[in-house]
Amino acid sequence: MQLTNRSKVVVKKEMTLMESLYLPAIFSGMIITFKHFFRKKPTIKYPEQVREFSGVYRGQHVLKRDENGAERCTACGLCAVACPAEAITMVAAERKQGEENLFREEKYAAVYEINMLRCIFCGDCEDACPKEAIFLTDRKVDSLYTRKELVYGKDILVESEENPIDLSKRQTPEVKEFKHHNEFAHNITYKKK
Ligand code: SF4
Ligand code: SF4
Repeated sequence: MQLTNRSKVVVKKEMTLMESLYLPAIFSGMIITFKHFFRKKPTIKYPEQVREFSGVYRGQHVLKRDENGAERCTACGLCAVACPAEAITMVAAERKQGEENLFREEKYAAVYEINMLRCIFCGDCEDACPKEAIFLTDRKVDSLYTRKELVYGKDILVESEENPIDLSKRQTPEVKEFKHHNEFAHNITYKKK
C-alpha cells in the first residue's frame, strides 16, 4: 500500500555505450574533487592553529579576589544550589582575627571544589553568586588522565594575585547596567556605583 504519491518507479534500463565506458562519470567526479582543492578549508591544524574564542566563552572558573586581594567568596552555597550538574561542593569556615586581608567576609570557603567532569559550563553559578566571586573565563579546562585530577580545588580556582584574571570582556557596560535592575541586584559589582 502506498502512503504517499511521492514514490518513483525505478526502471532498470540498459546502459548506453558512453555510460558503459564509465569515463564521463569518472571525469565529472574528478572535476568535483579538483574544485575542492581551491575551496577554503573549514578545518584547522589544531593544536598548531587555535580558533579565536568569543570574549564571553564559558571555560574554566575563577574565584575572584577583591581590590585588596582578599577572597570574595563567602561560602553561601548559592552557586552549589544553582548548579544543575551538582558539580560544586564546599566547606565553610569562620574567619579568624587577623585574616581580614585574606577573606573579605566573616565566613569563607575553606574548601571549594568543582568537578569539571560534571560541569556543563552553563554559567548558572556565576549568575547566582551574590558576591561576584565566581566567574567562568575563556581558559580551557585541561585534558587529564584521572577523574581525581579533574576535581579542581582552591589551589586552581582562586585567582592568583600575580596574574589577575581580566573579566572586562564579560563585564561590559551593558552587563553592568543589566545587573542594576532590582531583580538582578544580588549580582552587582561589589562596590555599588
Ligand atoms: S557552570 Fe553550570 S554546571 Fe558548571 S559549576 Fe557552574 S552552575 Fe555548575
Ligand atoms: S555563590 Fe559566590 S559567594 Fe556564594 S559560595 Fe558560591 S562563589 Fe562563594
